[in-house]
Amino acid sequence: MLKRIELCFNHQRFVRKAKAFDFSERINLLLGPNGSGKSSLLKAIYECQDCKKIEDGPTNHFYYDGELMNPHRKSMRGNSLVRARAMFSSHGETMRDVLASIPLGKGDTLLLDEPESGQDVEWMIRISRGFRKVAQLGCQLIVATHHPVFMGREHTIELQRGYKKKLYKIYHEILERNAKDKIV
Ligand SMILES: [Zn+2]
Repeated sequence: MLKRIELCFNHQRFVRKAKAFDFSERINLLLGPNGSGKSSLLKAIYECQDCKKIEDGPTNHFYYDGELMNPHRKSMRGNSLVRARAMFSSHGETMRDVLASIPLGKGDTLLLDEPESGQDVEWMIRISRGFRKVAQLGCQLIVATHHPVFMGREHTIELQRGYKKKLYKIYHEILERNAKDKIV
């Protein structure tokens, strides 16, 4: 699993918050507004040869992009069984098939970009429980998300200072305001 990444010069341009990041061996949340470098950091971990990665033993990396898994896009990743199913399933079902089909082993790292994409809240809760189970089995997860369902006490990497607190405040205010709204 990944303990630390030191970004190459190219990736430092896209991830401005820091030049190096440390990860916990279980679940890591990447939080930040669009443009703060969440996807760039995931891609740096997954495929950059120039970023320096310090790993705790040999590590398989799996990358899951919630948006690209949309069955309506041609660039969809996944095996052929999943592709065939995608023609008959909703986006959310396809995403769950793909997650279930990833051959994760102990010490592996699963990178997820916006797993909430296309999911309803009940499924997000199930997926988030699934993440905890997978982490308990010894896999590491690095999850870029905007959704509060995934934001528990996991190790958090903020790509903008104070972002988690800010998000909590915004969501709280929206719920309070909506609860008070008059029916129109
Ligand atoms: Zn790089």
